[in-house]
Amino acid sequence: MKLVAIDEVRSLPRPPIEELLEDIGKLLKSGKIEETVEVDEDLKVSLTHYKFFHALKVLGIKRIPVTINRTDRVEYRLEDLGFEEDLENNPLRVCRNISELIKSCWPTPLIYLKSLSSDLSQVWAKLEYLNPFSNSIKDRIGWYMLIDALENDSRLTSSRLVYEASSTNTGIALTCISKSLGLKTRIYLPSSVQKCSDLYLKILGSEVVRVQEQITTQALERVKEDSRRDNAVHINQFENDANFISHLRFTAKELDIQLKRSGLKPKRIVCSLGTSGHASAISFYFKNRYHGDLEIVGVQPAKGEVIPGMRRVETGMKWIHLVEIDRMVEVDYEEALKGMLKITINEGLPVGLSSGAVVGSLDKIPPIDGVTILIMPDHFYKYCEVFNSTIL
Ligand code: PLP
Repeated sequence: MKLVAIDEVRSLPRPPIEELLEDIGKLLKSGKIEETVEVDEDLKVSLTHYKFFHALKVLGIKRIPVTINRTDRVEYRLEDLGFEEDLENNPLRVCRNISELIKSCWPTPLIYLKSLSSDLSQVWAKLEYLNPFSNSIKDRIGWYMLIDALENDSRLTSSRLVYEASSTNTGIALTCISKSLGLKTRIYLPSSVQKCSDLYLKILGSEVVRVQEQITTQALERVKEDSRRDNAVHINQFENDANFISHLRFTAKELDIQLKRSGLKPKRIVCSLGTSGHASAISFYFKNRYHGDLEIVGVQPAKGEVIPGMRRVETGMKWIHLVEIDRMVEVDYEEALKGMLKITINEGLPVGLSSGAVVGSLDKIPPIDGVTILIMPDHFYKYCEVFNSTIL
């Protein structure tokens, strides 16, 4: 048996995430590896172990125990194999490239919200607007989907064109990150999205196409067709497993480490739903790691309501159907706005409307004792046109 860097080991391509969840769940539950990965003399993973190998890769394990043409019993804690090394600190935040820049912002802060807490109940917010490009949680998936496609999709290395339907945040993230990777973007914006998004995206150098459709998933057919015609890669945040994986390997894991090292045990985590990427990954990670003693709340817009970035489950989401969400809450625009103002005015934190929806959902569910975590996806600056018509 020897320990080798996971990047030195070769394998068949990663299968769809649903085929890896059983192994990932077991690893998260036990927190350890109990058998070696079987490889041949050229460090190619055996057919029987390639899913296990990808489960380890998805979790961000850096070194793996291997044996040639057989498996052995071993016992290694995930932490001893580099599980937490993705979050190694760069305290002075000197960055040589885009990947270093985005990772220097992680973990995003976890902040105590005094105005929503009481003696028995502590409410904390994870501030995703402190990501560097789109000031949103979408930097994580923009970065990871591009890195993943460059590694695994040869079409991207030849065409270098990325097409995507986005309600703004993913578009900005992809456009900024594409620059340094030598890629070009074309972003399809649905008609419900505020006008300034065209400007932001064009200033950043993207091509922008406005479509008649109301929400991003309705525009998907057009994006698919255009990508085929132009030999571009449709990165497709709605179905691309790199979305879910980025939140499992980074967002969920870093929240877990922040909580553990601060002596906090979460009782409830509240997430808004768009693609369902972050809610699903956080649910899967914490349900396995914390053995079910935790409630996951998903927040969707009430029927007919538009809350930027958020969608209803029935409009089509991939990962939410693979995980457990304990409670779904519906919030309308007014409630999201009120929730947002509670945080901007009482806490001085410039969060956006989906963060407001997360806050608003707390008024619709029974309070709990203990620690509640709210995932705050973005910043309010993009929504000034929306506020113009509803606040001023
Ligand atoms: N909030 C905002 C502002 C968003 O842009 C999005 C996604 O587009 C979400 C929430 C939902 O995140 P997810 O796609 O991970 O479900």
